[in-house]
Amino acid sequence: MKEKRNATKSPQNVSGTGLVWLFWILLSTLMIPYLINRSATGPKEISWREFEVNMLHNRAVAKLQVVNNEMVQVFIKPQLDNSRQFKEIMKSTGTGPQYFFQIGSVESFEQKLEAAQKDLADREHVDVLYVKRKNWLQEIFFWVLPFALLVLTWFFIMNRVGGSGTGGASIFNFGKSTATLQDIDNKSTVTFDDVAGLDEAKAEVKEVVDFLQHPADYTQLGAKIPKGVIIVGPPGTGKTLLVKAVAGEAGVPFFSMSGAGFVEMFVGVGASRVRDLFKRAKEKAPCIVFIDEIDAVGRSRGKDTLFTGANDERESTLNQLLTEMDGFSTNSGVIVLAATNRADMLDPALLRPGRFDRHIYLELPNLSERKAIFEVHLKPLALDDAIDVDFLAAQTPGFSGADIANICNEAALIAARQKKKKVGRQDFLDAIDRIVAGLERKSKIISPTEKKMVAFHEAGHVVVSWLLTHTDPLLKVSIIPRGRSLGEAWYLPEERQLKTVTEFREQLCVALGGRAAEEVVFGEVSSGALDDLEKVTREAYMMVAYYGFNKEIGNMSFYDSTASRGSQFTKPYSEETGRLIDEETRKLVNNAYEEAKTLLMANRNGLDAIADRLLEKEVIFKEDIETILGKRKAPQTPIPS
Ligand code: ADP
Repeated sequence: MKEKRNATKSPQNVSGTGLVWLFWILLSTLMIPYLINRSATGPKEISWREFEVNMLHNRAVAKLQVVNNEMVQVFIKPQLDNSRQFKEIMKSTGTGPQYFFQIGSVESFEQKLEAAQKDLADREHVDVLYVKRKNWLQEIFFWVLPFALLVLTWFFIMNRVGGSGTGGASIFNFGKSTATLQDIDNKSTVTFDDVAGLDEAKAEVKEVVDFLQHPADYTQLGAKIPKGVIIVGPPGTGKTLLVKAVAGEAGVPFFSMSGAGFVEMFVGVGASRVRDLFKRAKEKAPCIVFIDEIDAVGRSRGKDTLFTGANDERESTLNQLLTEMDGFSTNSGVIVLAATNRADMLDPALLRPGRFDRHIYLELPNLSERKAIFEVHLKPLALDDAIDVDFLAAQTPGFSGADIANICNEAALIAARQKKKKVGRQDFLDAIDRIVAGLERKSKIISPTEKKMVAFHEAGHVVVSWLLTHTDPLLKVSIIPRGRSLGEAWYLPEERQLKTVTEFREQLCVALGGRAAEEVVFGEVSSGALDDLEKVTREAYMMVAYYGFNKEIGNMSFYDSTASRGSQFTKPYSEETGRLIDEETRKLVNNAYEEAKTLLMANRNGLDAIADRLLEKEVIFKEDIETILGKRKAPQTPIPS
């Protein structure tokens, strides 16, 4: 390891001194013509008029020499070396030329000269010679300068690119993999105990650790050790954490790198980085290579290339990755782990057996997993005795592991801000609210009319969700502005994998309940329903076009799980079906809106009472609603149990 470091240092010095030399050479080249020009006391520049009046008319000119068709040198008759006018100049210039002047073109010069000498006899005309001369210094200078600039720029870029890598700012690092190596000495301190839940995933990766530690157990039975494991799951579900735990437990060297790190702005770099990464890994085998966000390179080839056209680099990187994964033999002791949250975008070639042959799917944690994750993250906190982990886990459906870690930290920060000694239950509730809906903004100025509108809007959601029995139970409602929203209703979604048509339909009614209340109470609607409408539109289209809930469309789904159609410009249905989808979706939404409105009109008193209570207390809970609307009815489940 030490030797390697030294080895990468010397080229760095070479490039450093090389740069300094280049700089000096360039500077001297630039200076030479300047210095030469300064030291010479050569011919003096004059104007045409001076030449004509003082020299030509005085018959002082011996000959004229036109150089490169752009300059005329004037030679004074040698016998005039003692004349008052030319004495000085002839002393310093010797046989000449003594003067020169620039000309626009040879033709105009010749015409002018002709005109100036028209009164003279032919034999008195001045001789004109034409010469071509090369200024070698200038030539060299103009050749060298662009070249030197090019070399300098090249050095500069190479240094920068090399520098962005493993730290050795050397041009020779260009194209080398930027993966960081964790050796056994400085290995990750994360263990499998730090990963809560994810039992199946843990079992799978534990097997990987075992392959690496005891390969013989498997190979003697003729088993092939998998080459690659891909971990797929939504953000924050613990993919990186799981891999870190593998690194911590495996006791083998561990290369980690992000997919985006392969792709630089230069074509060909990605492929050479992949090559280099695998070369380094093979030297260190047995070892683990971890590629995070592999979708940055592994995205399906040929997809979305129509308009971007910038995919060549990524494709060649991916091809190289495939080649490398095919290239090393199954039992070479290198196992590639990769993580992504876009499995649908990955190139099928990457997922076929022999490459990433094992797929681990992570999902958002369920109730018991959330409890376990809370337990991991509550451990380092100084907690109040009243903390009930079951309650916290129940309050956080749909939260990822990262969200839960965030809540625990946020709760501790809230408690610390209030100078408390322990983190209490309320701190956790505040932290959850804050993460769900953003920071409370009590200072936001809202006029009383607006406040009333928000109160009725939220009360609309409350009443509709209370009366329809297949929607998620309500937890609390607030009209304190938070983040971007002016009011918010909290529900407690049940954990389930299936949702029925009725549940979907009632969900639409609840979401439209806010706007419906505005219409029922004020006879006018406001812009406050933007988020609701966005959600309603999305869900309604899903019901019609994806889930096959609509009778007119039938049991068809236009969902594209593999994203194989790629572009949104090719629709898998006709114009007519498209129109039908739009029509049916609109009908669905309109019906839901009418249903919400009917419910609210029939329960106007309840609506008013809840809005009043909200205006009075700003935040109301399930219990308040129960006292106004009565206990919520249990759902009559449409699916026979
Ligand atoms: P990603 O899936 O996006 O790679 P990470 O692995 O980076 O997510 O998770 C982010 C953080 O969330 C972790 O550092 C950890 O604190 C927390 N976390 C996620 N899942 C778990 C889990 N199963 N157990 C404990 N902590 C978790």
